[in-house]
Amino acid sequence: MSKVLIIGAGGVAGVVVQKCAGLPEVFSEIHLASRTLSKCQALQEKAGKDRVVGVYQVDADDSAEVAELIRGINPSLVINVALPYQDLPIMDACLETGVHYLDTANYEPKDEAKFEYSWQWAYQERFKEKGLMALLGAGFDPGVTNVFTAYAAKHYFDEVHYLDIVDCNGGDHGQAFATNFNPEINIREITQKGKYWENGEWHETDPISVRKDLDYPNVGVRPSYLLFHEELESLVKHFPTIKRARFWMTFGEQYLTHLRVLENVGMTSIQPVEFEGKKIVPLEFLKAVLPNPGSLAEGYTGKTCIGTYVTGLKDGQEKTIFIYNNCDHAETNKEVGAQAVSYTTGVPAMIGASMMLQGHWMEPGVWNMEQFDPDEFMERLNKYGLPWQVLECDKPFEK
Ligand code: NDP
Repeated sequence: MSKVLIIGAGGVAGVVVQKCAGLPEVFSEIHLASRTLSKCQALQEKAGKDRVVGVYQVDADDSAEVAELIRGINPSLVINVALPYQDLPIMDACLETGVHYLDTANYEPKDEAKFEYSWQWAYQERFKEKGLMALLGAGFDPGVTNVFTAYAAKHYFDEVHYLDIVDCNGGDHGQAFATNFNPEINIREITQKGKYWENGEWHETDPISVRKDLDYPNVGVRPSYLLFHEELESLVKHFPTIKRARFWMTFGEQYLTHLRVLENVGMTSIQPVEFEGKKIVPLEFLKAVLPNPGSLAEGYTGKTCIGTYVTGLKDGQEKTIFIYNNCDHAETNKEVGAQAVSYTTGVPAMIGASMMLQGHWMEPGVWNMEQFDPDEFMERLNKYGLPWQVLECDKPFEK
C-alpha cells in the first residue's frame, strides 16, 4: 500500500494514471501534478476522484517548487512522466525530500539535443547515501527492450554478442503528419545523427541515412532506419560482451517527406529566433501547431511491434532469438482511451513502480532496467497488457 505522485499529464501520464488506478492494492493513493491543472483534472475525472485524490499545478523545472509539493503530499515514489528536461530538477527534489524516483526518458538539456545518461548516472552516490532508489528509462524503449535483453541473457545465452532493437509502428492515425509522443522530444531524437556501437566504440551515421526493410511479426515489411537510442548506452555498459548494438525505427515515406520539408525551412531547429520582438524556438512553435499525441487514439488502427534481436553463444553454438510485443492501437484505445505508443510506455512505468513499491526491485542508487532480475517484470508484462513472444530465429539479424 503506497502513495505515489505522478508528474506530467500528457499521453503517457494518461495511461500511467489509469493503470495505477486499477491497482489499489499497490497504489493506495494517487496524486497528480503537471504544468496545466486542467489536464490533471481531466485525468482525475476519468480515473475517479476516489483513486486520484489530489491534483496540483507545478512547474517541474523548478526543483524547490517540486520539493514543496512533495512535502505536502509525502508520497513513497515520484513517477516522472513529464519531459526529459525535468528529470534533474525532479531528482533533486526527491533527494531533498527522501522519496524514490522513476522516469521513462533520459535527461536532456533544452538547448542541446544530447541523449546520454551521464547527468543522471552522476546522482548514483547521492541516491545511495540517502537510501533512495532511482529507476531510469522505465518505458518500452528504453525500458522493456532493456528487460528483454536481460531476460535473453539470463535464459537463452552464455554470452550476448549482437543486439538489434527494432521499433515498428505499423499503425495509421489518418493525419498527414503527427508524432506519437511529445513532438518536440520525438523530432529532436530523429533529426540527430544516428549512432551504433561496434567493436568497443561508437560509430556515427547521417540522420535517417541507413535503411533496412525489416519484416515485423503481425505487421509485415516496413522500411526501418538506424537511429541512436538511449538504451544502447546503458546496455553496452552493463553487457560488456556485446560486440555490436544498433537501434532501428520505422518511418513511412509521407512522414519523412514532411520531416524533410520542415527541417529544410528551419522549423525543427532548437536555436531561438527573433519573432515580433520576442525570442521563439521554432521546434517549440511547431509542437504547438501539431496534433497532440494524446488526441490520436480515436480511429487509430494497426499494431506496433517492438522488440530485441539477440545473437550470442549458448553451449558454444551461435544462436539468435527475437523477443517482442505487438500492441494494437484500437484495443488500447478501447481499454484506456490511449494509442499504443502511449500505452506501451505507460504500462511499463506502472509495472516498474509496482516492482519498486513491492520490494522486488528496491536498492539504493540509480539504476537502468537491465540491472535487475527480469523474471517478475516479464510476468507482469503478460498480466498487465503487454504480452510478449520469443521467436527462435534460424539465422542472425542481417549485418
Ligand atoms: P506529452 O507532451 O504528451 O506530456 C508531457 C507532460 O509533461 C504534459 O502534460 C506537460 O504539460 C508536462 N510538462 C511539461 N513541462 C512541464 C513542466 N515544466 N512542469 C510540469 N509539467 C510539465 O508527452 P508524452 O506523454 O508523450 O511523453 C512523456 C514522457 O515519456 C517524455 O519524457 C517522453 O520522452 C517519454 N516517452 C518514453 C518512451 C519510452 O518508450 N521510454 C516512449 C514515449 C515517450 P502541458 O500539458 O502543460 O504541456
